Amino acid sequence: MTSKNPAGEHEGLAPWHSAIPRSADGWAFFFDIDGTLVDIASTPDRIAVPPSLPPTLAHLWKRTGGAVAMLTGRSIAMVDELFAPYTLPVGAIHGSLIRHVLEPPAEVVPHPALPDIRRVLEPFVAAHPAALLEDKGSAVAVHFRLDPSLAEKAEAVVRDAVAQYGEGLTVQPGKMVFEVKPLGADKGTALDAFMASPEFAGRRPVAIGDDVTDESMFRAAVAAGGVALGVGAPRGKTAAITAFAEPEDVRRWLAALT
Ligand SMILES: [Mg+2]
Repeated sequence: MTSKNPAGEHEGLAPWHSAIPRSADGWAFFFDIDGTLVDIASTPDRIAVPPSLPPTLAHLWKRTGGAVAMLTGRSIAMVDELFAPYTLPVGAIHGSLIRHVLEPPAEVVPHPALPDIRRVLEPFVAAHPAALLEDKGSAVAVHFRLDPSLAEKAEAVVRDAVAQYGEGLTVQPGKMVFEVKPLGADKGTALDAFMASPEFAGRRPVAIGDDVTDESMFRAAVAAGGVALGVGAPRGKTAAITAFAEPEDVRRWLAALT
């Protein structure tokens, strides 16, 4: 390919969709992390953050006056570890916990039924070595990327646990994962909450994601007059424009933006 990127300066990149912002001016940025900014790995703790990504995001944060947020299934602590030494705004656990940069994070009391939920899930994971239990503090996830054939069984055990103990909790499906998270908040409500804060207000949101858990933020971005950009082939009906083939395309776009 010899086409040019929006900045028109890097040979060898595929052209990007016309809906993709060509400049950071006037935009507020909402990023999913896994499968969007960073390639998915066999297990969540194996992902590799390219060294150029944290400074690029920090630069974008500065350039937009703070209008950049990560909306992710990960915990706040994990996000801070991934992007160290930078501290970025985060809507963690699929938007359930919001952390602005200049304020201390809200105190979180995990749902009292989560230990019971874990007790139901533990025997399943013990019986299936390819399944992985991830405890995020206020959510718990069963991953099965190492054996996709476990999907049906994993979903059944997670849904059972929630039916048994999960008043106030809900099941969040994702790529090779079923997760139990607090009911009521999602990436869409998190996007709306950030847009109401001074750093974001008055800008157009652009939400970038790759998975079904991103649909709520896609819809919220479009409803707020912004755009929703998908990474990879859409999985069923989506509110996002398929704009990037893979995370590396997103990173190239960001590097050209900043
Ligand atoms: Mg993702």
